Amino acid sequence: MRNLIALFALSLVTAMANANDAAPTTKPAAEKPAAIASIKPNLRPTAATPAAAQKSEEDAEVDLSVRIAEKLAELRAKQALRAEDAARARRASEARRKKEAAAAAAAAAEAAKPKNGTHWTYEGEFGPENWSKINTAWASCNTGNRQSPIDLRDGIKVDLEQIAFDYHPSSFNEIDNGHTIQVNVAGGNFLSVGGTTYELQQFHFHRPGEERINGKGTEMVVHMVHKSYDNKIAILAVLLERGDANPMIQTVWNNLPLEKHMTVTPSIVLDVNEILPARRDYFTYMGSLSEPPCTENVLWIVMKQPMTASPQQMALFSRLYPFNSRPVQPSNGRMVKESM
Ligand SMILES: [Zn+2]
Repeated sequence: MRNLIALFALSLVTAMANANDAAPTTKPAAEKPAAIASIKPNLRPTAATPAAAQKSEEDAEVDLSVRIAEKLAELRAKQALRAEDAARARRASEARRKKEAAAAAAAAAEAAKPKNGTHWTYEGEFGPENWSKINTAWASCNTGNRQSPIDLRDGIKVDLEQIAFDYHPSSFNEIDNGHTIQVNVAGGNFLSVGGTTYELQQFHFHRPGEERINGKGTEMVVHMVHKSYDNKIAILAVLLERGDANPMIQTVWNNLPLEKHMTVTPSIVLDVNEILPARRDYFTYMGSLSEPPCTENVLWIVMKQPMTASPQQMALFSRLYPFNSRPVQPSNGRMVKESM
């Protein structure tokens, strides 16, 4: 009888252990039946004398109680371990889910943010490799395939038409725009090529020169930006090497603004003819503005003969802008024509 009670107790303990084991388990549930099976054979009554049988039954009961206690402890320990594993997995999964959600939210916020930054530089975080990331309107800077400057090589040598210059001494103003010294020239200075007439808007300087000719660059360059009546852009590049001082450059340097973004309007005139080389041979190709927004469909005319500036004139600019030059861009098989 006592055996039956004990057996019932063991079943109850096992049932309770099973019921408590609510957490999802990774271990096979087959352990418990096996554990019970290993106990059950000992419960069978043995055929012996009544006194011996009585003693044996009591021993068996004690033995059974110990086994039940041991089994229960074992089951509880396993349960605790499984619960701990499950909780750890839940916490890890929750942490992973939160992290993924946060990353997705951050990416969505970043993508939704309209990019209209205006600060750019020639080096570092805001440099040429990242210009298109600063402002959505500057995408061409890194995705365009007709960008400037390029290395002018393997040009097709042809009898290029002469460029007709119609430049005059003109009033002007100057600004240090944070990227270069820019000279805005009053209207009335024209350049005609390919049946189109372009009016000079402004010129500015780069150091080192951005253009390469067969891999070779110059110390500086002047970019003279022209626009046609229907807003087509033509930029004339005049390469600058060390040599004699240039009078037009001296006029510009004489009137430098004292502060960035401050416009100086001198009461004198500037003769743009003084920056043009005597020889009018040139390279020409289709490219872009070489600074943001990197607009393409710009006609480039690069004069073959460099002009000179004195070492002092070069040194003065380098104090303001030691490096304001975009790296050479892939030519992507663009045609370059050059005067024979
Ligand atoms: Zn330029």
